[in-house]
Amino acid sequence: MSNDLAALSITTAAKKLAAKEISAVELARACIANIEKKDPLLHAYLEVFADVIAQAEMADKRRASAGRGEAHPLLGIPLALKDNILIEGRRAGAASKILEGYVATYDATVTAKLKKAGIVFMGRTNMDEFAHGSSTENSAYGPTKNPHDKTRVPGGSSGGSAAAVAADMALGALGTDTGGSIREPASFCGIVGLKPTYGAVSRFGLIAMGSSLDQAGPLAKTVADAELLFGTIRGKDPLDSTSIDFQGSTLDQGSQGQTFKKIGVPWELFKTGVDKDVLENFSAALKKLETQGFETVDIALPSAGLALAVYYIVMPAEVSSNLARFDGVRYGLPHKGATQWEDYAKTRGEGFGVEARRRIILGTYVLSSGYYDAYYGKATAARAQLTREVAGVLNSVDAIAMPTTPTPASRLGEKTADPLSMYLLDIFTVTANLTGNPAISVPMGTVAREGKDLPVGIQFIAAQGDEKTLFALGKAVE
Ligand code: GLN
Repeated sequence: MSNDLAALSITTAAKKLAAKEISAVELARACIANIEKKDPLLHAYLEVFADVIAQAEMADKRRASAGRGEAHPLLGIPLALKDNILIEGRRAGAASKILEGYVATYDATVTAKLKKAGIVFMGRTNMDEFAHGSSTENSAYGPTKNPHDKTRVPGGSSGGSAAAVAADMALGALGTDTGGSIREPASFCGIVGLKPTYGAVSRFGLIAMGSSLDQAGPLAKTVADAELLFGTIRGKDPLDSTSIDFQGSTLDQGSQGQTFKKIGVPWELFKTGVDKDVLENFSAALKKLETQGFETVDIALPSAGLALAVYYIVMPAEVSSNLARFDGVRYGLPHKGATQWEDYAKTRGEGFGVEARRRIILGTYVLSSGYYDAYYGKATAARAQLTREVAGVLNSVDAIAMPTTPTPASRLGEKTADPLSMYLLDIFTVTANLTGNPAISVPMGTVAREGKDLPVGIQFIAAQGDEKTLFALGKAVE
């Protein structure tokens, strides 16, 4: 056991803080020491905030003046935030050149909630530009590397957040998930990642990707940590009309004493394209659950085979609309041309990376009047069908299990030349975003590749608002 304080889980660190065995300053210093040692190679952070120690000192003061048992469990916990989550007065850029120099003028709702709890904000983490990607190689500031093998990707798009947690450079992190961007890097980096029910967490103050798909959520070392973070950031928000009040739902009961037993497995979906070793780990994880009294049953999700195609129509459509606001007038650095039209063209042509431009073009195409019915209209209908199917299945089972990704982490550069091969990594994660269901990725061991042990994750999907089941199942796998 290392005596590195930064290696502690949030839950353990919180207990030690409450017992005054350690201070927030000591925790923050331990994270900074790891950052200094490891981040020059990993590049998980785009910026480490200069006032981390000052924030930690404030947290220690707050604890000293709080009454016994009054301090929030997260008071003084060092957390990293993905670069698309706003913190008032600090830079935020979604890892894009088009937002160069942008300083947030307000807090995201999740930020405000974390501030209230007393979190120490370590810095902003690297990501695929505007969260477009599965490897963090689309960042305008260079890729992040996987702490388990530095020749490989950490997954994306929240790869910086996942690497920061896996390498003990923060105790936990927030990411965002539009098609898998929390779960997939969690899987590749060997940690836990939760994509909450759509609407469970406010999207106010997140730099939007696909507004009907986006959710912010935790990346953490343990399921209990993810549960604690989720409990802190969730809730209805008057500033986000799509947020939902889960008061009175199973969420308020916690994951203790859960009495469910049935897990549905859509075996048909894994017949082709899933790595043999990943499938072996998956079967072993299910066996482990069976020995704990869970029952696994074969289920059919006939429309899930369409999920990837549907996602890669709906998502770019929303991306093209959300990125329209970046015109060089309102945000970031403007590029000047001879006319106003040229200002836009130069700003957007030079400010956006190649993947963002690809998605804007695809999205504009599927929404164009001549093709709307053929693409966007059809995709919307298929999405509704998939949502009904998943809800139907979850009437007879408590959760659906799949591998989070079909393969372990790929090598840096392996998929960048072929966007379609990159998109295929999302095959099992996009369904939960399209249907709004909550989904969690929990480590299910490692697979050996060229002398390195690469982590892989198991994913569970539950009914909307039923994160509790995900936490209980995740703990059973842990
Ligand atoms: N990998 C997916 C994509 O490229 C998902 C990204 C995300 O969840 N932000 O769109």
